[in-house]
Parts: sequence; structure tokens; C-alpha cells
Amino acid sequence: MKRILYLVFLLFSLFILTSCKEVVYTDIVTTMFPGYDFASHIVGDKMTVSQIIPPGAEVHEYEATSQDIVSIKESKLFIFTSQDIDTWIESPDTIGGTDTIVMDLSQNYTHVEFPYPTQFTEDEIQANTIHFWTDPANTVQLIQAILENIVLIDPDNETYYRQNAENYITEINNLSQQIFDFFTTDTYLGSTIYFAGHNAFGSFAARYGLRVVPLFQEFKPDADLTSNELITFTNEVKAAGTHYLFIEDLELPKAADTIKAQLLLENYDLTLLKLYAFENISKTDFEGNVTYLDLLGRNFSQLQIALVTI
Ligand SMILES: [Zn+2]
Repeated sequence: MKRILYLVFLLFSLFILTSCKEVVYTDIVTTMFPGYDFASHIVGDKMTVSQIIPPGAEVHEYEATSQDIVSIKESKLFIFTSQDIDTWIESPDTIGGTDTIVMDLSQNYTHVEFPYPTQFTEDEIQANTIHFWTDPANTVQLIQAILENIVLIDPDNETYYRQNAENYITEINNLSQQIFDFFTTDTYLGSTIYFAGHNAFGSFAARYGLRVVPLFQEFKPDADLTSNELITFTNEVKAAGTHYLFIEDLELPKAADTIKAQLLLENYDLTLLKLYAFENISKTDFEGNVTYLDLLGRNFSQLQIALVTI
């Protein structure tokens, strides 16, 4: 009897916990911000798009709710990032409804060789394939792949969708070319930046001939850092002579603050700058309609601050 009561209590608690989120019905459902941003640009006002992972939430630790599953099954197109990131998707074949096209973004691009491949080890490149959307050379392929599925759903508006996709791709390519032209000059080529977060920027940096040294390889909360990891990294930053340390957009910079405080004791000043992995977007930026393109522009400005003033 006790066990039954406990089970009833458990089910009731689960119901309370999960019932705060309402089911969202949209034509297109995405898990993460990049898919949301790309699809929104293509469909304009012709279809509705939603993002399951709430703005500001940590994507590596997200678990879908029962409401999310209903939203997915009722959608015409479901776009997820990969099973490495969206680990709660056990079977892509059964996650959608009968009329849902299910799209795994990680299966929809081919790696474009980095312009200076000899600068990077095979390990560095491999470690970053999980964050493939940070490399604009992949991004434009993802937009094209999403476009083809959108055209399948609504062929009547094909011309409109193709034009929107082309416009957005042109804007991303233009900005990406500007970043490339800036950092692949003799002055900056091969410059190293230090990032007090997980290894999300390898492909992004490699595309522009830069290197990134992350504090740790895989995502983990700051609390899991060992003091050894922190000390080694702090010493590396100081030895490099840089006075800029990059931090994640959506995490509290606890590790970076510790590093900064430690170096201040040694009369070494450090400025913290944000670098955007596009994994998610803050609530304020989401409400302000900030785009992938905007975040790419911010990254360019922040990198210029760090590298130009060294
Ligand atoms: Zn990540």
C-alpha cells in the first residue's frame, strides 16, 4: 500500500512539474536556436516556427517534456541538431507524427576543408564536429537543406522561400568573408584565443585561421572543475600574455571570475569578453529578435577587441 501511495505521489509530482509548460502548435518545431533562426528566415510570415529549448536554457542538459513531444508530433517539420546534443531523442524514426518530416541537421552538411589545415591536429578538428553549426561554411548548407524540406511542405510559396534563403545565405557569406579577410592577414593568422568554457569554438576559429584553447573539452558545470584544471589554464593565459579571456554567453562566468581574481593578485589584469556558440540565445536577445547573423557579427567585434589590442 505504501508503495502504491508513493507511486501516486510520484506521478502527481511529475504531473505538476511538467504541466507548467503548455503545448505549442507550430508548423515547424526545432530543438535549438540555429534551426529556429534558419527556418524563421526562410518561412517569413508564411509559417510558424517554435524552439523547444527555452531561450537562456543550457542545451547540453535539456530533457524534452511530454508537451514538447506533442508539439513535435503535430508539426509538419521537426528539426533537431543531432543525437549527440538532443540526447533525449532515442529514435528519430518514431519521434514525429504521421505527417511530420524529421530532420537531423548533423546529417545535412559536408565538412568544407579549413583554409589552413596544417595548423590543426586531427583531434582538434574531430572534437568540434559536435558543434558543427558554429562554422558558417556548414551553416549555409544547413539553410539549403532546411529550405528543401520547407518547399516540400508548401510548394505554392517556393519562390518566396528560395528568395529568403538566398538573401540570408548571402548576408552570412558576406560577413564570414569579412571575418576571414581580417584574420587571415599576416598580423593575425594563427592567433590564439582563450575561452573559459567548453570546446565549442574549434571549427569556428579554424575557419578563420585562428586557434582556440578551451578551459575544458566537454560541457560540464563550473562546479565540476578541478583546481588543477583551473591553475593550468590560468598559467597558460598568463604565459600567452593576453589580457582578454572569452566566456560563454549563457553561463555565469564563475571559472573566469576566479581566474581573473587570481591574476589580479599578481597585478595582471584580465578583461572578460563574450563569445557566442549560437547554441541558444538569452531571453532578452530572443525577445529582441537577435539572429545567428547578429551573433556572428558580435563574435567578430569581440575577437577584434582581443586580438587587435594585444
Ligand atoms: Zn556545446
